[in-house]
Amino acid sequence: MKTKSGNGSGAVHIPFLDLVTPHHALEHELHEVLTKALATASFVGGSMVEDFENAFAAYCGARFCIGVNSGTDAARFALIAAGVRTGDAVITVPNTFIATGEAISQAGALPLFVDVDPQSYNIDCRKLQELLENDCEIDEYTGILRTKESKRRVVAIVPVHLYGQSVEMDTILQLAERYGLKVIEDACQAHGARYFSRRRNRWMPAGTLGHAAAFSFYPGKNLGACGEAGAVTTSDPELAATIRMLRDHGQTRKYYHAIEGYNGRLDAIQAGFLSCKLRHLEECNMARRSAAHRYNEMFADGAGRIITPFEPSWSKAVYHLYVVQLEDRNTVQQELGAAGIGTGIHYPVPLHLQKAYAHLGYRRGDFPVTERAAERILSLPMFPTLTQAQQRRIVEAIVQITSDVVIDKTA
Ligand SMILES: *Cc1c(COP(=O)(O)O)cnc(C)c1O
Repeated sequence: MKTKSGNGSGAVHIPFLDLVTPHHALEHELHEVLTKALATASFVGGSMVEDFENAFAAYCGARFCIGVNSGTDAARFALIAAGVRTGDAVITVPNTFIATGEAISQAGALPLFVDVDPQSYNIDCRKLQELLENDCEIDEYTGILRTKESKRRVVAIVPVHLYGQSVEMDTILQLAERYGLKVIEDACQAHGARYFSRRRNRWMPAGTLGHAAAFSFYPGKNLGACGEAGAVTTSDPELAATIRMLRDHGQTRKYYHAIEGYNGRLDAIQAGFLSCKLRHLEECNMARRSAAHRYNEMFADGAGRIITPFEPSWSKAVYHLYVVQLEDRNTVQQELGAAGIGTGIHYPVPLHLQKAYAHLGYRRGDFPVTERAAERILSLPMFPTLTQAQQRRIVEAIVQITSDVVIDKTA
């Protein structure tokens, strides 16, 4: 009575993410990078790293790009360079990957969560304003912003451009200016995403919207390495210089350490791979946007009960993920799996309810929008080579499963 087994009669599996096909097309170029690295034995630092940094800075329109070994390190180094110290608090959302929280904790601060907007899944600027107005106070002698309860210094905001859609940054930046906060974008899912700034009256890429931005080049990201990699972009020369030191043991030159830093450099072979793949990023992002629009149209025809992603007029999202909302999400996910269709959930447990953050003292009910979304969201297959035929099969399967669920309930 559920999905008929003959349904996909011999239908091939549709992966959630296809990382194999795109590398076939680039195989020759990628091999050349390896050959070059082996011939010169420049594995750490060197011209391949610098070339990629210059190319990625230019792509984003930022003055500086500092390659590091992951998106998590990128965020951590940016926060430390921005002045976050032990005992501080940094504002972010509970609806994100744990790396956002880890970067904050590992910079010595505690994450201070703000709920998200139900349509965009990104930080709710009204709730951010409420937190700043009601739960924080400016010390009248020092001018320092502190939380009323714990008296922690509030230093920065980390807006997360989740699923590849930029946060409403004009409002964030206005609040940040009013309260003297640094803004570090978590752009780990948003390579190439654009935001229309009313203040600047132009479209601006993620990575140039705050004081600095963290990018991840984990293989599955829109721009992915063939291993671990990340970068910080910024147009602030002081931040750039500090981040450059932090990634390399705090060195100003070899064996002269101005500060204690980290081993957080970008691998040269990965930088070489990334330079090849960066040349195709814009085209891949366009393909993702087309696939997202096709999904939207197919769902509009097929079923009214599935909530498709919302893209405001000021946003050009790059659809790192295509996330829908539906009832009985777990059943739908299971049945799609049985029909050979891969899906994901980003993310099933909000950060404030993770065991790792139990010490923060948050409870279920604290962030109702995030909590409700966590039970209803489903990430559908999304990658540049996803075909219209595959999408039709996915949408038809979902429409059928969700109508089965309705029949089951009324039976
Ligand atoms: C992937 C990701 C990170 C972390 O990047 P890594 O390169 O895996 O360390 C941080 N934040 C978000 C939102 C991410 O999706």
